Amino acid sequence: MTTQAATRGQESISVLSPAHETATRFAPSPTGPLHLGHAYSAVLAHDFARARGGMFMLRIEDIDPGRSRRAYVDAIIEDLSWLGLDWDGELLFQSERLPLYQQTLDRLRAQDLLYPCFCTRSEIAAEIAASAAAPHGPEGPVYPGTCRALSHSERFRLLEEKPHAWRLDMGAALERVAGPLTWCERGEEIAAEPERFGDVVLARKDAPASYHLAVTIDDAAQGITDIVRGKDLFAATHVHRLLQALLDLPVPDYHHHDLIRGADGERLAKRNGAPTIASLRAAGADPGVLVESLRNGALPAGYSVAAD
Ligand code: GLU
Repeated sequence: MTTQAATRGQESISVLSPAHETATRFAPSPTGPLHLGHAYSAVLAHDFARARGGMFMLRIEDIDPGRSRRAYVDAIIEDLSWLGLDWDGELLFQSERLPLYQQTLDRLRAQDLLYPCFCTRSEIAAEIAASAAAPHGPEGPVYPGTCRALSHSERFRLLEEKPHAWRLDMGAALERVAGPLTWCERGEEIAAEPERFGDVVLARKDAPASYHLAVTIDDAAQGITDIVRGKDLFAATHVHRLLQALLDLPVPDYHHHDLIRGADGERLAKRNGAPTIASLRAAGADPGVLVESLRNGALPAGYSVAAD
């Protein structure tokens, strides 16, 4: 883990777990049942910690009130227990940490790094369509910055009237951090390029914090030294690295793993009928054999672990 003073960050983001040599986590969103791809990620994160005598933590990323369900939390616990993946310490629920996310947003707002965005999705799409050279980032077209240009009085008026998200003013944020940002990816230094994302949303209209904000705060709070997760989240790390710098948080090492793909080459997802852990259990699968096969990359017929 890169050592970086976390003193200012620790004033508001208290460290929940004692510092440990190695700590990893599995951080599912309870918006559906876990499938083989989740199990693979959980096994890798679990084994990474255990091989080093470290801690493996479980965090429930239930920040989206519209999509998170308690039944899926119970199912996650049942599935991990069935797989024999034991975790350390208390389960962390993001839904119980909203005041902390709020405080962090207040802190960024006080530094003039956030602005309210009143645009609807369709307004943003129309604006992008009308612009000849709208830049595209890793998460799609970059927000054109419409609400960044609002006057103070207009902003003040709209805040009273309209639902709004809070966006990071990327230009101002980059000016605030000293020097180029990097992270360590499986031993290799990667240059962070958060500017490719534009003014990312840090608090959504319908959820009190964005994934980017909550995950960055909680990885620091749980003392996570090594983030083992799928390559689908590699790009998001550019933004997380910037937030770590703005909030003076320690920088974990990252290990983005290849994704499990089905026979069609597509990565597993709920929508393409990935086998759920519950269905494998119901079909009489042996959890020990399943975990061993995930460890060895010897997957059930039709599945493979493959790079992009
Ligand atoms: N909650 C995210 C998901 O279920 C994972 C977050 C992370 O590992 O950083 O996709």
